[in-house]
Amino acid sequence: MSKSSEISGFYKLSPKERLAIVKDFAGLTDEEAALLEHQSALPLDLADHMVENVIGVFPEPLGIGVNFLINGKDYLIPMATEEPSVIAAASYAAKMVREGGGFKTKSSAPVMIGQIQVVKLPDPEYAKNQVLSRRVNIMKKANDQDPTLVSLGGGVIDLGTKIIETSMGQMLIVELFVDCRDAMGANAVNTMVEAVAPFIEEITGGKVYLRIISNLATRRLARATCTVPKEAVGGEEIVNGIAYASAFAQADPFRAATHNKGALNGIIAVILATGNDHRAIEAGAHGFAAFHHPYTSLSSWKKNPKGDLDGVIELPMAVGLVGGAVKTHPIAKIAMKILNVKSANEFAEVLAAVGLAQNLGALRALVSEGIQRGHMSLHARNIAINAGAKDKMIDLVAEQMIKEKRVRVDRAKEILEELSKNQQ
Ligand code: NAD
Repeated sequence: MSKSSEISGFYKLSPKERLAIVKDFAGLTDEEAALLEHQSALPLDLADHMVENVIGVFPEPLGIGVNFLINGKDYLIPMATEEPSVIAAASYAAKMVREGGGFKTKSSAPVMIGQIQVVKLPDPEYAKNQVLSRRVNIMKKANDQDPTLVSLGGGVIDLGTKIIETSMGQMLIVELFVDCRDAMGANAVNTMVEAVAPFIEEITGGKVYLRIISNLATRRLARATCTVPKEAVGGEEIVNGIAYASAFAQADPFRAATHNKGALNGIIAVILATGNDHRAIEAGAHGFAAFHHPYTSLSSWKKNPKGDLDGVIELPMAVGLVGGAVKTHPIAKIAMKILNVKSANEFAEVLAAVGLAQNLGALRALVSEGIQRGHMSLHARNIAINAGAKDKMIDLVAEQMIKEKRVRVDRAKEILEELSKNQQ
């Protein structure tokens, strides 16, 4: 029987109790659960093989977003983030969305774009025709680089050309469209474009400089929609407020940047937990937000004829289940197991849903009590820790600061001193 991700009071449990629930939900082994509890699950020698100049590892909190129902399937969402309130807001928003039947998602084929820049061309039009007439040869040469990907049904599916005007004259840009299947695909695509570059130089008589993937993955989009009943979101006034907030973000780049950051708070937390490339996602998201129009919001919200809230998000989602650090990082592997997605497409769609939930959580707070209440209560704990509070003192100091509406390190130190004296 499938298990529900709707876990009320999850936040009230201890980390151990929460882990026991996730272990059961995701079928984690004792070893995997032990690794999650272990504070340095990334061994130094493995870290040393992952990047350069390693001196240690940098742990971040790993939490679970609950309540996610996506296309009728329940998910627990692993999220790694240093920012308080992200996981709580995502879980709360997912609960509201659940009351409207959950998220519905879609995605396009996992196609990435690899670019080859050809310059110093006496006749760019002639060069372009030369490339187009050798289209099949070029695609074959590229596909020969990755028999594994081709055997899985991926590889180069098409080739495009464009002549662009630049400050250094006209350039021919050759683009390979590569179906990356369950890989993010940067290494795969970069290998292909590097391999075909000498042939392109030969047939065009030009000089190739750059051969690299584009992170503006407009052919690899993920989309999530939801309808939130007005009662679930807090009534008509909140629905109106969120619709106004959405219109603001659509019209104003200054607001749109923060609106999109809110959605990315959730998406990037999952990307980090799963060992994926967050820079690629951020670059793709912001590039897409400014594609063909001034920078705008990636999601939008409208009041529907029944007075409920309809939301939609669409953005490029270049993620992988294989490749990069996904299969190397021990915690990323466990996070993937918890997430239980079967393809990069399913993963991309879950991420779009998480982004939409995170966006809803932020807007819901912004149009009602403001973002600071929830934020500050969690932030107050960080301030208390900063001031030297330990164990139970952390919550006591935080609660007192919130009561006084003075969330500052100097005040935290005073409260800590007072409480410590009283306890002696
Ligand atoms: P990769 O090369 O490690 O793995 C991809 C390869 O795995 C494929 O080429 C294929 O041969 C094989 N494979 C096995 N099973 C597969 C499956 N089911 N589906 C697809 N391929 C399968 O990694 P990658 O995904 O090509 O590259 C991702 C890495 O590239 C990330 O670490 C990223 O940070 C890095 N990177 C990113 C950029 C950028 O975004 N601009 C640039 C350079 C490198």
